[in-house]
Amino acid sequence: MANGNRKRIVLAIDGPSGAGKSTIARRLAERLGFTYIDTGAMYRAVGLWALRQGVNPADMHRMEQLAIAAGIELQPGRIRLNGEDVTDAIRRPAVSDAASKVAVIPGVRRAMVQKQREIGERSSVVMEGRDIGTVVFPEAEVKIFLDARPGERVRRRLRELKAAGNDISENELAGQMQERDQRDSTRADAPLAQAPDAVYVDSTGMSIEEVEEAILKILRSRVTNGKEFN
Ligand code: C5P
Repeated sequence: MANGNRKRIVLAIDGPSGAGKSTIARRLAERLGFTYIDTGAMYRAVGLWALRQGVNPADMHRMEQLAIAAGIELQPGRIRLNGEDVTDAIRRPAVSDAASKVAVIPGVRRAMVQKQREIGERSSVVMEGRDIGTVVFPEAEVKIFLDARPGERVRRRLRELKAAGNDISENELAGQMQERDQRDSTRADAPLAQAPDAVYVDSTGMSIEEVEEAILKILRSRVTNGKEFN
């Protein structure tokens, strides 16, 4: 319980890359006064550390040690790894690839899930990732599976990368995203999957505001009967 006698709430948003999870989760958290947790950024931080240390992301034993030792701090819109602000560094395509490779390792996932649960136990959260509704918070009050057509997901991610100064072709990015989604969906431990009680939202052709409103409506109907949130 937090916030006096108001119940602590977990809004879980899972889905493939480029579906709009980060944008939507950040906006919803701001609007609701919840803590926004980007769990992908945590796997990216571990992947970045592996690249920097020259550790093979497939080395299960060393990667688990790195994940346990990683000092990951999440602040609104920023992430620090061992005290260094790595918010921009983790967005590079090479780090996306490393993140999804280290995310296959059960020991790495255990370390991340433990950190995620600790955060979610302190306050109401909007937490986005691949396994939030299935593994991290199976009891979450509201679960959304946010999806969009592959072509649109690639174009959205391309816009973000270009805006951040990364030069990559649409074809190359499409190949990378397909490989990553495939790895995320087929790994043995906590694969990307829609929880049976999650609401499927296809954001193809919807504006950010429309997706936000659709999710708020689901939240209101599930949690508050329209009374508590604006
Ligand atoms: O969400 P984002 O694309 O930043 O995540 C980077 C990678 O981290 C994903 O491709 C996935 O392999 C991994 N991840 C995960 N579980 C989560 C969040 C991200 O395995 N909850």
